[in-house]
Amino acid sequence: MSRSIPKLSRRAFGADALMAAAAVAALDASAQCGGTGATPIHCTEQEVAFPVVAYIFERPEGLVVVDALLTDLASKELRAEVGAIGKPLQAALLAHPHPDHYAGLGNLVEALDAPTFAVPGVNDVVRRDDAAKDALISGMFGPEWPTNRSFPTETVIEGSTLDYGPGLSFQVTDIGPAESFHDSVFVLEAEASVAFVCDRIFSLKHAYMSDVQNSSKLAAIDQPMAKMAEDTLLFVGYGMPATPALLQWQKTYL
Ligand SMILES: [Zn+2]
Repeated sequence: MSRSIPKLSRRAFGADALMAAAAVAALDASAQCGGTGATPIHCTEQEVAFPVVAYIFERPEGLVVVDALLTDLASKELRAEVGAIGKPLQAALLAHPHPDHYAGLGNLVEALDAPTFAVPGVNDVVRRDDAAKDALISGMFGPEWPTNRSFPTETVIEGSTLDYGPGLSFQVTDIGPAESFHDSVFVLEAEASVAFVCDRIFSLKHAYMSDVQNSSKLAAIDQPMAKMAEDTLLFVGYGMPATPALLQWQKTYL
């Protein structure tokens, strides 16, 4: 099936790429996996077989983790970092139903009294597709494919707030089909604007393009980023934190 692709000159593509690179480079290094305002943010990156990032948001009262990586090793390292910080894990948030975000949930919350939240669509897809993912991925990753995978224990709806005190309160946005069969976004209400947008933007990285048609991705990509301030810090699953300016590059890439 053919589809029309908007014409884009090499000059225009280059301009978008430069703008995107500048948007990433211009970010204050202290805001990248170090903290924003009074909420330190720890980034744990899975390096093998591919780089993907999970985030630990820290306040004096406790921690909230967003996403849980894929491999057994990386997700256990994420759990170890939670333990090393030494504060209670108050919740895990799952933004996305792809295995590189949920497969490590079991290791992350093992023996902890911490709920895992997702919007209903993410919860449905991750449960629906787990058996197929198991059949596909277990042979690829062997012992690094966690066998103790777990699923969200609670669902949260569009517009609701997960409130764990000042600096640790997240607004929920339910996106629907976008990069995956169901995406969501968690926006941290803090001194600085911070949003975890998962794989809605691949920060100067190759995008995963198999689940949802590009037309759907493009239609969804501005939601809800179009409403965000231009200096909002976007934490992503792949690559460096970005700002909404990177949306233009992502559109061009797709
Ligand atoms: Zn994804």
